[in-house]
Amino acid sequence: PGTERPPLLDDEEGGILLYSASRSSSSGYNHVSIEKQRQRLPVFRYRTSILYLVETHAATIIVGETGSGKTTQIPQYLKEAGWADGGRVIACTQPRRLAVQAVASRVAEEMGVKLGEEVGYTIRFEDLTNRDLTRIKFLTDGVLLREMMEDPLLTKYSVIMVDEAHERSISTDILLGLLKKIQRRRPELRLIISSATIEAKSMAAFFHNSKKRRGLEGEQRGPKTEPAILSVEGRGFNVQVFYAEEPVPDYIQAIVSTVMSIHDQEPMGDILVFLTGQDDIDTAVQLLTEEAQNNGKPSSGLVVLPLYSGLSRADQDLVFSPTPRGKRKVVISTNIAETSLTLEGVVYVVDSGFSKQRFYNPISDIENLVVAPISKASARQRAGRAGRVRPGKLYTEEHFVKEMSAEGIPEMQRSNLVSCVIQLKALGIDNILGFDWPASPSPEAMIRALEVLYSLGVLDDDAKLTSPTGFQIAEIPLDPMISKMILASNQLGCSEEIITIAAVLSIQSIWISARGQQKQLDEAKLRFAAAEGDHVTFLNVYKGFLQSGKSSKWCNKNFVNYHAMRKVIEIREQLRRIALRIGMVLKSCESDMQAVRKAVTAGFFANACRLEAFSHSGMYKTLRSSQEVYIHPSSVLFRVNPKWVIYHSIVSTDRQYMRNVISLDPSWLLEAAPHFYQHQQPNSIPH
Ligand code: ADP
Ligand code: MG
Repeated sequence: PGTERPPLLDDEEGGILLYSASRSSSSGYNHVSIEKQRQRLPVFRYRTSILYLVETHAATIIVGETGSGKTTQIPQYLKEAGWADGGRVIACTQPRRLAVQAVASRVAEEMGVKLGEEVGYTIRFEDLTNRDLTRIKFLTDGVLLREMMEDPLLTKYSVIMVDEAHERSISTDILLGLLKKIQRRRPELRLIISSATIEAKSMAAFFHNSKKRRGLEGEQRGPKTEPAILSVEGRGFNVQVFYAEEPVPDYIQAIVSTVMSIHDQEPMGDILVFLTGQDDIDTAVQLLTEEAQNNGKPSSGLVVLPLYSGLSRADQDLVFSPTPRGKRKVVISTNIAETSLTLEGVVYVVDSGFSKQRFYNPISDIENLVVAPISKASARQRAGRAGRVRPGKLYTEEHFVKEMSAEGIPEMQRSNLVSCVIQLKALGIDNILGFDWPASPSPEAMIRALEVLYSLGVLDDDAKLTSPTGFQIAEIPLDPMISKMILASNQLGCSEEIITIAAVLSIQSIWISARGQQKQLDEAKLRFAAAEGDHVTFLNVYKGFLQSGKSSKWCNKNFVNYHAMRKVIEIREQLRRIALRIGMVLKSCESDMQAVRKAVTAGFFANACRLEAFSHSGMYKTLRSSQEVYIHPSSVLFRVNPKWVIYHSIVSTDRQYMRNVISLDPSWLLEAAPHFYQHQQPNSIPH
């Protein structure tokens, strides 16, 4: 209707015919061409409809179960239909970095092109695209937001597919709000919102612009402003569910025994296990590997693999490569395998019922990473990852029915909003409370964020970005507190050291996790431990790594994660480049650790805590809101308990624990943020 380019028909020539024996999986796709595989995906039947809807509607909402081909196929359909002609680019966003990499390499393979050319990806600190060649680009939604700082209308993109929208990550939500704005200025831009289980109606309502574009509609024969909704009917397997008979005391141990009993008693087929994070997963991998070795039976053909973000490319490839004949693959994953990635050959799913979630309390101003029960919707998704039959669950049916909430809460409503606010400010969105959010954040959280940003010197009295500080901080793609720490290191003459620390803090952990070898790990840590705290300890590890000639042997000997250290070096290089770009001078303070601690304080003053005078249990209270917190056992300051500390983050299990802690002199607090602490009781901070 009124469009220049009619949608293509299914039988028009699409991709390239390629034979792939290596990618064939245990599910019986042997020696089937990639083109055939593509055509077997549920989404293929909707190719024509999808192209038609995208052509005729400003926004199209596509819902389809995981594995139906949304992420890998739709960008290719768009390209085949001409949406990437004339130098334009098709974008597809994902909330998770690992998914971006995995999906991009799969699509490059399907198209028979080299990754980084026609098909590329960008994640923070890693850009594998080519300015002239890339036509399909996968990226995190956070990176797309950053691109808006350079090109507010995202002019190079013809279609933007916001994938995994049901995850409702903060960046996805901000992106949706901004894309809606952009579309008013660029009616030719097309949006696809796709997800596994979205409440399509509310998403459609969000995109339905009731305010008519003044006079434009009709005259210009633009796309329909009312969003289209398309539901892809999947192949739905019949899944049989087994609950735990009673609550399990130790879910890692329970996972190990469940996997072993599936392995011993059930027919062949891979097993997918859901755990919460890298530490849990590494432990489970280790226990299972040992168990499989001790098992001694000829059946111990288990290949145990971890799956979490931050995994090396080689390890990722192992997860996706076909299971060797006669073996059984066990993939132990975070939430990432819930909807972002599909693993062929999975027949059994074991679900711990937990994931790591962010929770923010604007009253205490503490953002917590908590291992929390997942929602029913997530639990169903996880079960659905079993290609055929029989997943197990490690919680009771009663727990599922009575205790688990139906849906998760959008991240926007359970996070600290400091990063979110600075990004919007940098994009010139001044009225943040009035911004058109898919889910409104709480005003308290917003006010807290404004307060912190004001104290960091990022915002002025009118809540506008300060110049140059605010703009410089917005330019660094890290949490504003880390960015401020980096900026402060410039005056303090310790930018080289602080950049190393920032790089270490932006990866999960530089230590090898070692259940059963805790003593050895602690001893190794002691070799690097600094009296000042974890940040300075990181500097010692980094120095040792460089002195060893970046040796992996040295790493293993010292319980240092070699892969993580390579990453630190990579991120460090990127941060140095950014620092130079914003006019910083790179300088080392040699052994002046006071400068380093002051720089940390300049960024993280809001996280200062004081040891309770009469506490023998190592209890601290946050200066800001008198919350009870403790030093995490993994910190080098555990049991040392200096009187004043600053933490980088909080994790809570039985208590709220501070991770990555450094000691400070409280007088630095007033220096760093006078307005932030001026209302404290006079005796709580010595002048
Ligand atoms: P959706 O986005 O709807 O969840 P995808 O497009 O991600 O589906 O995946 C479609 C299919 O492509 C999967 O079922 C799987 O068979 C295959 N696939 C996707 N990624 C890979 C990969 N990295 N390796 C092998 N097969 C893959
Ligand atoms: Mg997908």
